[in-house]
Amino acid sequence: MAKIVFDSVTKTFPTKDRKNRRNRSNRQEFTALDGIDLEIEAGEFVVVVGPSGCGKSTLLDLLGGLTRPTSGRILLDGEPVTGPGLDRGIVFQQYALLPWRTALGNIEFGLEATGATRRQRTERAREFLDLVGLTGFEDRHPHELSGGMRQRVAIARSLAYDPDVLLMDEPFAALDAQTRESLQDELRRIWQRTGKTIVFITHGIEEAVYLGQKVAVITSRPGRVKEVVRVDLGDRATGATGEDLRSSTEFARHRHEIWTLLHDEVARARQLEKEEVAV
Ligand code: ADP
Ligand code: MG
Repeated sequence: MAKIVFDSVTKTFPTKDRKNRRNRSNRQEFTALDGIDLEIEAGEFVVVVGPSGCGKSTLLDLLGGLTRPTSGRILLDGEPVTGPGLDRGIVFQQYALLPWRTALGNIEFGLEATGATRRQRTERAREFLDLVGLTGFEDRHPHELSGGMRQRVAIARSLAYDPDVLLMDEPFAALDAQTRESLQDELRRIWQRTGKTIVFITHGIEEAVYLGQKVAVITSRPGRVKEVVRVDLGDRATGATGEDLRSSTEFARHRHEIWTLLHDEVARARQLEKEEVAV
């Protein structure tokens, strides 16, 4: 049985279109996601890639239990998702850290709902700060940390309460290229060490190819799964990381494949916009 199943998931939002507001019987809805089918196995690293506005965050919010599907269902270990839970950790693009707590305090905070004692919380928080390479920064407050460090704290906080699934919504998008690449390497290492199921959202093709075992390409308006691409970059265990891997022919081939799928989509979205303006 798959760990996560999206089964014909549709999400619509009411439109705020003035034309439609006067006439209630003519109320329109905007379809953000339309019939999403996607299966994710336990321990898999799946990347969801698509143009801006195609419904990636909507999809992740549904899986996080922050919103509910309009129709269809999402199963986690065979059970429908009905709300948020400690079985899923979420990392957002902006560091959602508490500014008045230290790095250690932010991670401890995530453990307060688990029933761990104060001492256990501190021990575990230290262990996870170490896992993300922040030993020595326990007592710094978020404003005393770089963007990359803050995002490391956010990742450590999400991992510390040991969720089965890590949900990440463009977590590295606000970082500079070098920091982003080193965090990508770190995330892959953490994934290999912890065996978590990871669902990672991005609009970056290179990031998708570098991180994903499977890359789900989402079309826009309405969002649908266009294709699921399996990425095989050979045996990473041989030590090829970073530059080596990114300059390999397999990497280039996958990047081109996904680029082509997305390029069609961006062109189609532009066309749709033009038609709308003309109406
Ligand atoms: P992405 O994360 O891929 O950029 P989103 O999932 O944020 O896209 O949004 C998909 C579409 O749904 C966008 O057109 C957005 O404007 C719309 N949308 C998202 N959330 C809401 C909401 N709460 N109400 C109305 N429209 C929304
Ligand atoms: Mg988004």
